[in-house]
Amino acid sequence: MFQTLAQALEWASTRLQDVSDSAKLDAEVMLLHIIHKQRSYLYTWPDERLTSEQVTEYKQMVGRRELGTPIAHIVGEREFWSLPFMVNPTTLIPRPDTEILVETALNLPLAENAKVLDLGTGTGAIALSLAFERSNWQITAVDKVLEAVALAKANRDNLKLPQVEVLQSDWFDAINRYDFNLIVSNPPYIDEEDEHLSQGDVRFEPHSALTAGEHGYADLFYIAEAARDYLAPGGYLLLEHGFGQALTVRDKMIELGYEAVATVRDFGSNDRCTLG
Ligand code: GLN
Repeated sequence: MFQTLAQALEWASTRLQDVSDSAKLDAEVMLLHIIHKQRSYLYTWPDERLTSEQVTEYKQMVGRRELGTPIAHIVGEREFWSLPFMVNPTTLIPRPDTEILVETALNLPLAENAKVLDLGTGTGAIALSLAFERSNWQITAVDKVLEAVALAKANRDNLKLPQVEVLQSDWFDAINRYDFNLIVSNPPYIDEEDEHLSQGDVRFEPHSALTAGEHGYADLFYIAEAARDYLAPGGYLLLEHGFGQALTVRDKMIELGYEAVATVRDFGSNDRCTLG
C-alpha cells in the first residue's frame, strides 16, 4: 500500500480529500507526529521507509480522521501562541482567532505584577500564554469542568509555568479576591441552534465550551455583569465573542457602566473581542 514517507503522504492525502479541507496538511501533521520530525524532513528524505508499526499506526490515525475526528485530538496537541498545548475532548481546541485576545491583553498598560483572572480556561491556552510572556503577572485560571482543570494543570506543568494558579470554579464561584487588574474570558458564545455545530471539528468538542443560551449571549452577559465586583478600580474586562456579536456586547458593557469600551478585530478582520 505504502512504504516510504512520500507514498504515505500521497496515500493519506487521497483518502482524506473528500472529508477534510486540509487533506495534505492533515496527512503531514499525523505523519510527523509518528516520526517525531520537523516538516522539512518529509521533503528532504521522501524515500525513507516507515516501519510496519508506523504503517499500522498511520493507517489508524488516518482512519480516525476520515471519520471526522479533529487532528488535534488524534495527535493530542495543538499549537497556540507558538506553544504546544495538550488537548483532549473535554475542552475546546484552542483557536488561532483567540491569539488576538492574548495580544490585546499584553498591550494593556498593566503593572509588572498585575493580577489576572482567566474564566473558563479549558486547556489553559490564554492564561498560560500570558504567563509565558509576563512572568510576574499573578494569574489565576478557572474552569468548572474538573477534567479541564486537570488538563490546564498538565499544560502548566509541561510549559513550566508553576506561577499560574488553576482552580475549579463555575465562573466566579470560587474566587474570593476583588482586585483583579484584568479579567479575560473566551466563554461559550455560539447560539444553541447554530447550524455550524453539526459540521467539522466542533462536533467533537463539548457543547458546554461552545454554546450558551440567549442566542449565545448568556455567559458573556453574566460575566460582564459579575466581573464588576471582582475588578480593581481601573481594571479591564476583555471578552472574546462571535464576530456578529460585537455591537450587542459593546452596548451591554456600556449599560453595565464599563468605560472606553472598544471592539478588537482578529487577524481575519472579524470583530472578535471587546475590551472595557
Ligand atoms: N470561535 C469558536 C467557533 O466558532 C467558538 C469558541 C467559543 O464558543 N468560545 O467554533
